[in-house]
Amino acid sequence: MFTRRTLFKLLVAVGARSVWPNQAWAQKLRLTTSNPHSSVLARQTFSDILPAIRDSPSILSAVEQWEDLLDDLDGVELIGRYSQLMPVGAGSRDYRGPCTFCCQGPDSLMVGSRDESYFCTHCLAGGHALDFYISVERLTPAEAIPRLTGLLASGSLKGNRPWLERMGLALDEVCWLACEALQQGSAGRAAREWIEGEGVTQEASEQFSLGLLSKEIRHTLIPHLRTKGFDQAELEDFGIPGWLACHGDESDIRVLIPTRDADGRCRGFYEQATHQNAEAMWTSYSLPYGFRLISPHRADRLVLSAETGRASSAAVILAERPWDVVLLAQDEIEKAVYVAPLDPAEYGRRLTLYLQRVPSAIWPIRQDDITVEFLHDLIDGCGRSVGQLRFAVLPPGLRLPEVIGREGLNSLRARLARAKPLRDLLGA
Ligand SMILES: [Zn+2]
Repeated sequence: MFTRRTLFKLLVAVGARSVWPNQAWAQKLRLTTSNPHSSVLARQTFSDILPAIRDSPSILSAVEQWEDLLDDLDGVELIGRYSQLMPVGAGSRDYRGPCTFCCQGPDSLMVGSRDESYFCTHCLAGGHALDFYISVERLTPAEAIPRLTGLLASGSLKGNRPWLERMGLALDEVCWLACEALQQGSAGRAAREWIEGEGVTQEASEQFSLGLLSKEIRHTLIPHLRTKGFDQAELEDFGIPGWLACHGDESDIRVLIPTRDADGRCRGFYEQATHQNAEAMWTSYSLPYGFRLISPHRADRLVLSAETGRASSAAVILAERPWDVVLLAQDEIEKAVYVAPLDPAEYGRRLTLYLQRVPSAIWPIRQDDITVEFLHDLIDGCGRSVGQLRFAVLPPGLRLPEVIGREGLNSLRARLARAKPLRDLLGA
């Protein structure tokens, strides 16, 4: 993709040695954009946003800022500043206008508002709106980031951020309603008993703001959100009716585990089934319902943790499923995080992105899972980040919380303390 190519140009521009971002990049980018050849606008804008970046719990890397722009820019709004765009048809989300690059024909430039992409049918120029801006303004990616971030911060560009804010408000309502449902009513009682049976206290339940996606919630959520000022089209854009429709079985009752960004705002939900065979039937989760629909890059960085927003210098523990984070926090193992299923073949990229943001991580693994195929996928999927991993060996068939039940907390702590790097694990 053109956008990916541009990303690699950005990597070169900020002088990064690693393929993936780290926090030092933000500093390097600062130096790059502060050179005397940068425009006055770029320097002013960037210095405006720097205090906010410094104050945030986690410093945004250059690549994270780039990804945020991919999510935040409204292609029709941005490209519409350079070309007079008209809707293709009544109610269409696609637009056409004259191409800024080749100036051939009145409507050779097509702009899609679903993915913020553009394409010229004459000169074949195409990509994301961010690529358009870089080309038309003749900027480097490192110069474009602070300019566009500044335009969004000042309100000069509206972008998709108001939409994101609205979805955040809707998710807060869902979170509140689901918490209420868990605390009250008959469905709530059954779920509370299930949670108690799992060994999770009321206090831990409140710490995670656990909620209940009960039958009642599934029926009343949309009318409730309508009374709060959300219209049907908006809720469909947020994917809420579709999300609810996925739970067709009336007996299907789930605990919602809100997942939050670094600022502690609800950005989506993981789900844990509470029926009798829930232990055996838990589904593997990649991304939670929520922001993935409208801000996929931000959603890709969401991590479920008991310590949301708090930077940690200690090694984190990679949990195998979201519910394990709750169970482990209950046992005062607060460093457990859920990033993605521990499958390097499928989720290597997401795991690698996360490993760039923490000092090191412990990967729980059973001896019989250490196969040639696993090692191949691990090296292939996680690359150099494997060096940040240590592996804690678990008894066959058990997950971390089950080891506590079988062997006790001290045994699990000892297993974690004995976690070894891959080299030692293989006995080399
Ligand atoms: Zn063209």
